[in-house]
Amino acid sequence: MQLLSSYLAGAWSAGSGSRTSLVNPATEEALAEVHTGGHDLAAAFRHARTKGAAELGQMTFAQRGAVLAALAKAIHGAREELIALAVANGGNTRGDAKFDIDGGAVTLSHYAELGAKLGATTLLADGEPIQVGRTARMGGQHIWARRAGVAVHINAFNFPAWGLCEKLACALLAGMPVIAKPATATALVAHRLAQLFEPLVPAGALSMLIGPAGTLLDNVGATDVVAFTGGASTAKSLRTQLAAKGARLNIEADSLNAAVLGPDVELTSETGGLFLGDIVRDMTQKTGQKCTATRRVLVPADRLGDVCDAMKERLAAIAIGDPSRDDVRMGPLATAAQRDDVRAGIDRLAAVTDSVHGGTGDVTPIGVAAGKGYFVGPVVRSTKAPMDCAPLNEHEVFGPVSTVGSYDGSAAFAAAFIARGEGCLVSSAYSDDRDWVTGFVSAAAPWAGRLFLGSQKMAAQSPGPGTVLPSLNHGGPGRAGGGEELGGERGLHHYMQRCALEGDASVLKSLLGG
Ligand code: NAP
Repeated sequence: MQLLSSYLAGAWSAGSGSRTSLVNPATEEALAEVHTGGHDLAAAFRHARTKGAAELGQMTFAQRGAVLAALAKAIHGAREELIALAVANGGNTRGDAKFDIDGGAVTLSHYAELGAKLGATTLLADGEPIQVGRTARMGGQHIWARRAGVAVHINAFNFPAWGLCEKLACALLAGMPVIAKPATATALVAHRLAQLFEPLVPAGALSMLIGPAGTLLDNVGATDVVAFTGGASTAKSLRTQLAAKGARLNIEADSLNAAVLGPDVELTSETGGLFLGDIVRDMTQKTGQKCTATRRVLVPADRLGDVCDAMKERLAAIAIGDPSRDDVRMGPLATAAQRDDVRAGIDRLAAVTDSVHGGTGDVTPIGVAAGKGYFVGPVVRSTKAPMDCAPLNEHEVFGPVSTVGSYDGSAAFAAAFIARGEGCLVSSAYSDDRDWVTGFVSAAAPWAGRLFLGSQKMAAQSPGPGTVLPSLNHGGPGRAGGGEELGGERGLHHYMQRCALEGDASVLKSLLGG
């Protein structure tokens, strides 16, 4: 049995004490073990703060970007091996695994290109020069300088590659050393990435703790940054734990994303086809374990039956089973705990909604021994009172589960429904009526980190709402954690300090390479 090591303070170490197993969620076979502690985490922070910060501090954006390009290349070189690990340890189909792994490489490449564009400098301008004196000689300029300290990245189980890479790309390009902590249950992919990346990054720039967090956060100081992706209850405890320390905390937590069908859209139209394709893909890709997946669907009352019928038809064609098989389109949930959570969420919904498809998720998976694996089949529920449905609007079911509600077709109701989720990462609306879209966006935007506007003219090149792009903001208000990641250059700001400079305008200009 493979025993996984952590990479801390410039060395690989297995830790000590009790062990926990990483399993294949389709077969429940143990794949590897990891010690639950025994690491000198204080030494890891010291090493990152001294060696890592010093090495990155000597580099320009262009040089750091070149490092990111090398990491993306390393992923391409080991792609098949990484896909096999994701299939075995994550319950991913090959398509799911590619979505995670290629997404990681694309994000690294995006920030590599941004580094090249920012060039041979170390400071970023924040806005235009300002005249603060009597004449133009006395100037002001806001800048971004890299933050002192360490970036601690705590990642969720669902995207072990992309989650690592999207946070790492922004922090390293900004110039902060990183200590990453992948979720233990699916850590095989992140562990292999650390092995691939370690020789390619400056000394001390990347450390990785494999296994539970233990005393990790006890070492966080005021100039450090913690970026967390995971459940709302863990997020809450991190807020309490870190508040007194003054560290910057970015949280991406639960999200009740919604998809709205505009009143002008026929299901047989291109826009209608985009809507159906997106909601079914979001339910089944990664078995619905995507932070961006649609949990709540809103359709005009006269289209409720047609939408439910179309979803049933599409979902019935999805083969569920051992994700290593070519004929399987949807695998198991990642852990037994996630399966139990999803089943509890379905039961809560079943008490107040009507069954459309999949009952309460029982399924006989293809190619799996009887009783084995953490499988739940796709489940669609429906309600004619979506606003009043507390289990729908107040609890994220992190699996292949969606509920379709009916509405009066007004943009005001649609936006109020988005707001009912109390803050989401992304929601989508499908309409070719620009007046309706304008009314919807202005009322819904305060409740979403991203709004996806599906229409006939963009349908042919749409990535869908479930795909997070490095150039656009990822994060959301309220329940979604209040964080922001990515968004091109904006993603660096989390790891940088804004500083207002005052002085001779020509000196200020020269500091920014002018
Ligand atoms: P989680 O239990 O919050 O775990 C997320 C990460 O936090 C893991 O790396 C976990 O490590 C770590 N962690 C747990 N307790 C910690 C602590 N006290 N201090 C520091 N780190 C700690 O979430 P999960 O089990 O991955 O998922 C639970 C729910 O979160 C899901 O059902 C879903 O609702 C939501 N979720 C949201 C997103 C999103 O992107 N928005 C993603 C995934 C999950 P270990 O793995 O070692 O415990």
